[in-house]
Amino acid sequence: MKFNELGLNQDLLKAVADLGFENPTPIQEKTIPALLTEDADIVALAQTGTGKTAAFGLPLLGKINSNSKKTQALILAPTRELCVQIAGDLKNFSKYVLGLHVLPVYGGAAIVNQIKDLKKGIQIVVATPGRLVDLIERKAIQLNEIQYVILDEADEMLNMGFKDDLDTILAETPFNKSVWLFSATMASEVSRIAKKYMREPIEFSVGKKNQGADKIEHVFYSVHFRDRYLALKRIADFYPDIYGLVFCRTKIETQEVADALIKDGYSADALHGDLSQAQRDFVMKRFRNKTLQMLVATDVAARGIDVDNITHVINYNLPEDDESYTHRSGRTARAGKSGISIAIVTKKDIGRIKDLERKIGKSFRKSLVPTGVEVCEKQLFHLVHKLHKVEVMDEEIEKFLPNIYQELNDLSKEELIKRFISEEFNRFHTYYQNAPDLNEHGNESGGGMKDGRTVRFFLNLGHFDGLNKLMLKDYLADITRVHPRMIFNIDIKDSFSFFETETKFKDNFIALNHSGIEFNNRTLNLEVSSGRGGGSRNRNDKNSEKKHFKKSGGNFRKEGNFKQSERGFKDKFRKRKF
Ligand code: AMP
Repeated sequence: MKFNELGLNQDLLKAVADLGFENPTPIQEKTIPALLTEDADIVALAQTGTGKTAAFGLPLLGKINSNSKKTQALILAPTRELCVQIAGDLKNFSKYVLGLHVLPVYGGAAIVNQIKDLKKGIQIVVATPGRLVDLIERKAIQLNEIQYVILDEADEMLNMGFKDDLDTILAETPFNKSVWLFSATMASEVSRIAKKYMREPIEFSVGKKNQGADKIEHVFYSVHFRDRYLALKRIADFYPDIYGLVFCRTKIETQEVADALIKDGYSADALHGDLSQAQRDFVMKRFRNKTLQMLVATDVAARGIDVDNITHVINYNLPEDDESYTHRSGRTARAGKSGISIAIVTKKDIGRIKDLERKIGKSFRKSLVPTGVEVCEKQLFHLVHKLHKVEVMDEEIEKFLPNIYQELNDLSKEELIKRFISEEFNRFHTYYQNAPDLNEHGNESGGGMKDGRTVRFFLNLGHFDGLNKLMLKDYLADITRVHPRMIFNIDIKDSFSFFETETKFKDNFIALNHSGIEFNNRTLNLEVSSGRGGGSRNRNDKNSEKKHFKKSGGNFRKEGNFKQSERGFKDKFRKRKF
């Protein structure tokens, strides 16, 4: 189907042609004719990247009366970035429509200026729900002529806690308006909005309900918890042209991962809610213009990020809810391109992967973290390819060539190639020559040994002995002469604790049992734990706790989820180079 078969007017068709859109996307084919001919409510299930802005924007522009200065349409979107993006798209679509004004309004920017701008006669307002409610309360916006309310990424708005604001806005707008709801998933809260505020909505969906966008390949790597950062680096090195979005769960982790990547020489930065709006804008600008190769972000900060050509979405850990996974992965494979969504998981997450497969209706491919040799090979051929394609500035380089030829005169062609390549290759080779296998192979044997590389210990000291993680680490390092970096994944309870170390140091710790060393008048008791090592708490850890509880003689108090302390996290990065 062609754009001119959809019923759009010439002004809009001309603008669409200027944008280089040749054919409508599937969601546009469905919604544009329907919305142009009927004044119906619609629910459209479409992922980001499917062309949904034009799917509602073009018919909306076809219906707005640009001769009237009244605000006729409200578009609500979860984030400032998305508001700006939608307003920009609508301005592009309406560049030949005389007298039509679109204004984005959002939190984090001066409301006074927005109030001033609203007075200029804006037909379409694109707003974040919070800011719009603020404007309504200040009576800075007239709602009596609103004919269309469009909810974009409705599920995200609800996830972000805008439920009450949406209720307020929908209740304040005229009864006979049309509501067009766009959402990636039909979560129960979205259905509630549809039931409460819409009249027999027509449902459109592209692909199956709740299905991930089509050209996304879903891949997971299973690694030990503490090796996630190293796995991330391997993946980044294995894809030299990566243009990726890395998702973390917390602001602290986001900043830590970004800092570590920067320190290790990657072109990366962080995007999270602790940054000021100006800092966020700056980071986004650098990511958009590809000055940054990797953006490390929290789910909230990354909402509405609309950047084309993202090659990889990397889940540094899986999000808490399945919907967020769909949103994360939907940041790649936009506008008909393909992309890879990678999940770095630990063995305990495998069940979640199965759940996600059911949810998105697609399977994950289990992949192995590339070995050092594989990374080197990939980098080598990438370099060769780059050399082959490099643009030679003949004129500029000419004057230097005679001296260069003379200097390299004694080298054969083969020797020259080897040396040019080595200049870059050596760096990777040196770095990766002793790199261990990072894959979690699941050959768990008893006695706390996971793969033979690490061992988990129980120790009869805990919080009641006045210890915290850092103190325990330093104390153990002191009495065993094992480097503090080699003592990790410390899980400290009231009267006992667990920690891990490399297997080669096992005897240093066992020896403490016969050393007569006391702490707080207690003889040290160390045992290899039957629980699995690897940082995060799991069922085996709990069983192990119960088993050891009796021995510890202390008060057993069930704790919340084990959280990696900030310091512990930093230690993990400092622990090993590979
Ligand atoms: P959206 O889902 O609205 O965020 O659109 C994703 C990307 O697809 C944007 O970069 C749009 O400019 C682009 N796009 C939208 N519709 C079309 C179309 N019919 N043909 C080509 N590109 C499109």
